[in-house]
Amino acid sequence: MKAVQYRTVGKAPEVVEIPVPEPGPGQVLIKVTAAGLCHSDLAVMGWPEERFPYPLPLTLGHEGVGTVAALGSGATGVAEGEEVAVYGPWGCGRCRVCAEGSENRCPHAAGLGIMPPGLGSPGALAEYLLVDSPRHLVPLNGLDPVQAAPLTDAGLTPYHAIRGSLPKLVPGSTAVVIGVGGLGHLAVQLLRALTPARVIALDVHEEKLELARAVGAHEALLSGEEAPTRVRELTGGVGAEAVLDFVGARATLAVAAAAVATGGDVSVVGIGGGTLAVGFGGGLPFEVSACAPYWGSRTDLVDVLDLARRGLVSSHVETFSLDEAPLAYERLHAGEITGRAVVLP
Ligand code: NAD
Ligand code: ZN
Repeated sequence: MKAVQYRTVGKAPEVVEIPVPEPGPGQVLIKVTAAGLCHSDLAVMGWPEERFPYPLPLTLGHEGVGTVAALGSGATGVAEGEEVAVYGPWGCGRCRVCAEGSENRCPHAAGLGIMPPGLGSPGALAEYLLVDSPRHLVPLNGLDPVQAAPLTDAGLTPYHAIRGSLPKLVPGSTAVVIGVGGLGHLAVQLLRALTPARVIALDVHEEKLELARAVGAHEALLSGEEAPTRVRELTGGVGAEAVLDFVGARATLAVAAAAVATGGDVSVVGIGGGTLAVGFGGGLPFEVSACAPYWGSRTDLVDVLDLARRGLVSSHVETFSLDEAPLAYERLHAGEITGRAVVLP
């Protein structure tokens, strides 16, 4: 089968031919129908050799949707031919947080060598994908696979982040979304679907701001030093009750810190290398809570797919073949993808 692999640190990913994997005990083989490209893949491919955490070659892709092709011995609960979305942040499945569905927080996964598909384990940018357990499959129940693929991360991660701030996003409140890319354009829709907050989107590209407006942002502004002043003007001097930073660079975190309201939340989702100083004298208003959410829980994914089925969120996608995936990554790197790039193997 064809797969898109990162093979050598510092080199571009390559389309290669590898054997179709066989499902072992408890595993499920998925025929991939759609797989999203995430900016995190670019971050991974930017890490230096001495700190590279995954075995190479690595088949990329942590947003996968497909049909069940074969079940390993003892795997039950899904049927061959069923259309499913893959839940990516695999946990041990046995501890308390996993029992709650919050496998993204499993404290044992790393120690047990359990790694997400495309982020350590072979990923979804291939014709077939091995999933370690039926537990990590959510039925599409009629949802379009191309729509659904980005929801497994670009939808799930903002949903999880926003869910933490819901008590503050009351009528009259404001949420700021920094970076209207794959995650950000879904964040805008999720905020509109889940909260009465006014949504202000910030980006550095005019096409991304157009997309933000098209998917429901009340205001879409160029991000920069003056952005916090605009946010304060639009909020009667108060600032935003929630700021979601989907870039996470030093410059955007400075915007987040200057735009957040007293008592508000800053969610640092982007892994752009910046950090936020928490503590008196660190520059944040009093009583601000800051967090760095990671992906989402299994129930979060069920919820996001449900919102999409009801038409409350939809992925804006540009599709590519497996052979075109390296080019799609180049375009993502250049900021030329609006919404999410999705590969159809
Ligand atoms: P993307 O490339 O699709 O979108 C990024 C957007 O940010 C683009 O629209 C870009 O124009 C905009 N941008 C860049 N610099 C900016 C600036 N200075 N100010 C405002 N906007 C700016 O990326 P994505 O796939 O949506 O991922 C977003 C970030 O989230 C990445 O850092 C990714 O690694 C990270 N991520 C984190 C998690 C998590 O669990 N925490 C999960 C998935 C992705
Ligand atoms: Zn991702």
